[in-house]
Amino acid sequence: MSQTNILLASLASGTFTVQDLTTPLSKDTPTLVLPEPFANLIDFNLEEVSAYDSPGPFWKHHNIHTGEHIGTHLDAPIHWVTGRDGKDVSQIDPKRLVGAGVVLDFRDKVANNPDYLITIDDLEEWQRNHGSFPSNAWLLFRTGWDQYGSDRQAFLNADETGSHTPGFTAECARHIALNLDISGVGVETVGIDAGNAAQLDPPFPMHNFLLGNDKYGVTSLKNLDKLPLSGSLIVVAPLPIVGGTGAPARVLALVPNE
Ligand code: MN
Repeated sequence: MSQTNILLASLASGTFTVQDLTTPLSKDTPTLVLPEPFANLIDFNLEEVSAYDSPGPFWKHHNIHTGEHIGTHLDAPIHWVTGRDGKDVSQIDPKRLVGAGVVLDFRDKVANNPDYLITIDDLEEWQRNHGSFPSNAWLLFRTGWDQYGSDRQAFLNADETGSHTPGFTAECARHIALNLDISGVGVETVGIDAGNAAQLDPPFPMHNFLLGNDKYGVTSLKNLDKLPLSGSLIVVAPLPIVGGTGAPARVLALVPNE
């Protein structure tokens, strides 16, 4: 049997299942909100052009209006000033978009502290317990934040002291970008950096280091609880927008049923 047939037979028999890690896109999808004086992207919106009526009697279709960075989406290198000479979203090698899924679970730490910043020690502890990260892997950080995905206020968790969502220390961001042979990082929150990452040095260190080193970020993931800590295969499929700094992405996982 060919390798493809083995895989197809595994899917047909239920040896593997396909999990959708994507948050559905709608006008209610929470978008990152930057404080004054910065400019914000628009929310996602569908504009009806016809609906089996006189503008199109046999069909229904819409225009979509959206920012690039909406819902489950990929950040491409040119999104950040450190990656300005790097790739746009259409230029990313598809080989980097398919890789091993590694789930790191920080629900306990985040439950007590929504501002929790993941450290190098946290990553090294995971590797001591579960083995090293495969080459070209996607590191998927489970914080429990996906439970707030349908509640914009809880998801952004902002007050007068800023937005309180988990992320990474600057040292950890630098370590991931420079020392790990991975493709990218996926998170359940609205962005790859912590809500208060403007206060870190450098500001927004995950954006700074990852995108400046040709590694990619994916946000607003869900269903990470349906994945094993290791052993899944991840497919990240952003729209190949020419010149795009990011794009909505369908993110799928092939999961062995063991
Ligand atoms: Mn983004």
